[in-house]
Amino acid sequence: MKASRIRRAYLEYFQQRGHAAIARANLVPRGDPTTLFTGSGMQPLIPYLLGEPHPAGQRLTDSQVCFRAEDIDEIGDTRHTTMFEMLGNWSLGDYFKTEQLPWVFELLTSVVGLDPARMFVTVFAGSPRWGIPRDSESEALWGGLFAGAGLDGRSAEAGTSSRAAVQGTGGAHVVLYDESECWWSRSGGPDTMPPGEPGGSDSEIFYLFPQVPHDPAFGAGCHPYCDCGRYIEIGNSVFMEYRRTETGFERLPYPNVDFGGGLERIAMASADVDDMFSVDLIAPVMAAIEARSAAGRRGTGADLRARRIITDHTRALVFLALDGVEPSNNTQGYAMRRIIRRAIRQGLHLGIESGLLPGLADVVIACYRDAYPELATEADRIRDVAGREEELFRKTLARGVRELPRLAGSVLDGDTVFTLFDTYGFPPELSVEEAAGTGLTVDPGWRQRYEQRMREQRERSRTAAAGLFKGGLADSSQATTRLHTATHLLYKALRLVLGEHVVQRGSNITPQRLRFDFSHQGKMTAAERSQVEEIVNANIARDWPMNVSEMSPEQAFEQGALGAFGDRYGPVVTVYTAGDPDGEWYSKEICGGPHVARTAELGRFRITKEESSSAGVRRIRATLE
Ligand SMILES: [Zn+2]
Ligand SMILES: [Zn+2]
Repeated sequence: MKASRIRRAYLEYFQQRGHAAIARANLVPRGDPTTLFTGSGMQPLIPYLLGEPHPAGQRLTDSQVCFRAEDIDEIGDTRHTTMFEMLGNWSLGDYFKTEQLPWVFELLTSVVGLDPARMFVTVFAGSPRWGIPRDSESEALWGGLFAGAGLDGRSAEAGTSSRAAVQGTGGAHVVLYDESECWWSRSGGPDTMPPGEPGGSDSEIFYLFPQVPHDPAFGAGCHPYCDCGRYIEIGNSVFMEYRRTETGFERLPYPNVDFGGGLERIAMASADVDDMFSVDLIAPVMAAIEARSAAGRRGTGADLRARRIITDHTRALVFLALDGVEPSNNTQGYAMRRIIRRAIRQGLHLGIESGLLPGLADVVIACYRDAYPELATEADRIRDVAGREEELFRKTLARGVRELPRLAGSVLDGDTVFTLFDTYGFPPELSVEEAAGTGLTVDPGWRQRYEQRMREQRERSRTAAAGLFKGGLADSSQATTRLHTATHLLYKALRLVLGEHVVQRGSNITPQRLRFDFSHQGKMTAAERSQVEEIVNANIARDWPMNVSEMSPEQAFEQGALGAFGDRYGPVVTVYTAGDPDGEWYSKEICGGPHVARTAELGRFRITKEESSSAGVRRIRATLE
């Protein structure tokens, strides 16, 4: 069955069983600056899995386009992609295992037509340590389903992956693993869950590709979680039925089901191909690249890898552009810039030296326009975004490639990588790739040195900024610094009062006042204004220490640090915390400083004006008295 038919059949199947088909979420999570991209079907639904009522009801289904920037470097083999579609169905406190497992089995075997003899499932073996029982219900349900298909429904005990890699699983269709494999919560296994956190066992479905031989490098025996590529995971049902307490676990009154299945992987199983890049939603892009490649560059090995990278990255860029992301040097835009630039570099390997992306974007759009008609209406804009960035980068590349051998000499070190980035905007990963490709030696310590140079540069600009402050009125440095700290307190207060959609859109500070622009619709009420003032003044009185620390932007966002829309982040950022960064704190922000030592130095905060700045952006002026 073709992938587009699988998608339709899946949604219809669950709609017939009382599920509301909901629209996919944007690839940029709305009002959640802690996560850069929507990376799973479950992610946009987390508030509802945690108990908030969903407007469409208790049974939901969708196909979610996902992007995982953290996988960019994995791309090139047969089964990794940064962009994929995840089919999902959810029970929010409604049906449970007895409905879910037979439905998924019927869908995959009777509707999609997969061979049950090649399906293998995992079930939670229980955790005696935590007093969580074995999931005997799922074990019995799966056993019955396989037996009903004329197969052996008996189960095998694997325990852990390392044990299974030694012993194998004897060909059993139902395999039991402990919490190291068959447990899901937002914060990992039972040991790392904080009290109050919900979680539960999961049951994954794998499809066996007998044409892929087991690779003994992964152990003597092959088993569902083996990484050799013989078993491919095509779906996972999470049964969220427990909550962590201070001492152990208790059952939730209304357990949830969360199912996610990769569309492209199910299509691989359906077409019986062990290479995801040959399924019908992806293969046309591969073919278009091959047609444009130079005659000697259509082979396997590095050529095939290059085609896969370009294919994946073009698919991702089309949906990122559709969802409003533009290439830039900040957060989401930087990930997009990276994949576009990488695709172009790989194109050069294949001998494609101009006009790569707009044409390929058209091929991607043609594959998806039936399911996502907005692609057709936005096609011109998407092509344009891709084309402009391609042109820009080709100019940069030409300069960088010319300069690289001259700058590097015979060994590419961190200093040269820094110069190429600083002067030519040449991304460090690409410098290393380019150097390796042209036979230069790469200094193994390059990254450490490069990051040190980046830190030194930030330090210099900070000192320069501090110097500027001193140049003005006698106390201007101090007055401006105080207002800067007040801006952080204000940003957090606005998010507390107005909501998480508030994102900084601009800021300007003089010794007399601060000005702060932020995303929000409509005028603030008098009550909202005074509430914001009260929160800021309460936190000034709290006398928080302003602490500074350095980390990666990902870590910063993970810890809840706020950033500004359009900000540029290097590999290491400075984070200012009002409070204890690892304990109790009020505000955390990615920022270059400077700040006061303690918030009690600020005096009294007052909003003097609140007005519109541009569409959907409000502007606040405020002073300290
Ligand atoms: Zn294996
Ligand atoms: Zn700041």
